[in-house]
Amino acid sequence: MTESQLVLDRDGFVAALGGVVEQARTTGNHLGLMLVDLSNLRLINHRHGYEIGDLLLTEAGRQLVATSKLPSTVFRIGGHTFAFILPQLNTPAFIALALNRVQRLLDESLYIDDAITPVQLRIGLAVNLEGKHSSLATLSRAEASLARVKRGAVLEIDSLIVEEESSQTDIALEQHFSEALYDNAFELHFQPKVDLRSGRVCSAEALLRWHLPGYGAVSPERVVQLAEDSGQMYELTRWVVNRALRALRDWPDTAGFPLAVNIPAGLVNSPDLADMLQGALAIWGVEPSMLIVEVTEGAVIEDKEAGFNNLQHLRELGIGLSIDDFGTGYSSLSYFKHIPATEIKIDQFFVRRILNDNQDRALVGIIIDIAHLFGFSVVAEGVEDGQTLQCLRELGCDVVQGYYFSRPLPETELLAWLRECDGQPGITAS
Ligand code: C2E
Ligand code: MG
Ligand code: MG
Repeated sequence: MTESQLVLDRDGFVAALGGVVEQARTTGNHLGLMLVDLSNLRLINHRHGYEIGDLLLTEAGRQLVATSKLPSTVFRIGGHTFAFILPQLNTPAFIALALNRVQRLLDESLYIDDAITPVQLRIGLAVNLEGKHSSLATLSRAEASLARVKRGAVLEIDSLIVEEESSQTDIALEQHFSEALYDNAFELHFQPKVDLRSGRVCSAEALLRWHLPGYGAVSPERVVQLAEDSGQMYELTRWVVNRALRALRDWPDTAGFPLAVNIPAGLVNSPDLADMLQGALAIWGVEPSMLIVEVTEGAVIEDKEAGFNNLQHLRELGIGLSIDDFGTGYSSLSYFKHIPATEIKIDQFFVRRILNDNQDRALVGIIIDIAHLFGFSVVAEGVEDGQTLQCLRELGCDVVQGYYFSRPLPETELLAWLRECDGQPGITAS
């Protein structure tokens, strides 16, 4: 290793990485980026002097250059961090070989003697198939990997490669997602919630649907993930809210029940949420009491303080608040006292088990009783058969939602279904 290779050279590194990414893009080969960190170097300098520290750094650089054999692939990019670019790989499996080799060589060559504190080697890795990611994205993925390893995670190359392969389709999907949002290509389907006492439809939940031509249906969870990854969660939710409110405005009075929309965890604590909802209600001329927001239990307990305040504000505006997937978030009983909700929705996981599992049935019964004590209405989601419905009725559940009554339907089909049963599917179904 020459002296110059010990010098920090971030610019040289970024340029070299850019060149390799470009090369991969044109040749269709792959590349890897390894970040090799001598993470306790500061401690070694402190204990044994800079001379020893420098010796270790020089030796690490020398070994990396010797392993690479290629020009402009090894750089020192931090006080104790080297970047090792692995260009022109025919198969990503070579990365595993390179990693093992580097690990073994450095473990051996950085040993001085028993009196010297051993070097703690931490290696982070990014795989970039066919140069599809930019050089900066590659670097930040390698940095994230290194950060995970420093926190104690084990570097799993196979899963890194699988993750990378699936992220290739994500990149394409992300692109389609942005276009779909722009082109208004999403749809909402509506699933009725039925009041068990009156047998009437008392509200409906709006559920996102995306049919991508040539691909098929993309699940709403996936769509929400895509929105999050591309930083468009707010825009997607605004679309959902406006589309639902437009439906409320257009529907005949016979369907005069509130609509529920799902609000993603990331927006629950956002001060923009209330403004967005208020703005949309004003645009469509809909009363706040006709809108229910569903937020998952997990999202609310994530940041209790901010989340509760924000949700309290929505309640003050007159908007209904439903706690979705209840029972999965491990909240404590004191939660009931503080949550400003109007309704809780027991997660399908429990609903599905109440017929066969006595404990789950008892649990659902207790949740219903406590919820009632605090004045919440209880919805059971995922009700698929009459027996489960009967059991929920006996446990005191107020409202059910599930395939037993109806799947989520497109707007016109829901309106036809409502006409047919006159808004009272419960009368015939129970
Ligand atoms: P969720 O809010 O808990 O919605 C209930 C899910 O259960 C829906 O799945 C619904 O179709 C399904 N379901 C209803 N009844 C039954 C039943 O009897 N049996 C079974 N097996 N399933 C039933 P879907 O539409 O696939 O939505 C999944 C999740 O995606 C939703 O769970 C919600 O968390 C999310 N999601 C859907 N639409 C939106 C949206 O517009 N925005 C956001 N942020 N998330 C959404
Ligand atoms: Mg929901
Ligand atoms: Mg749910």
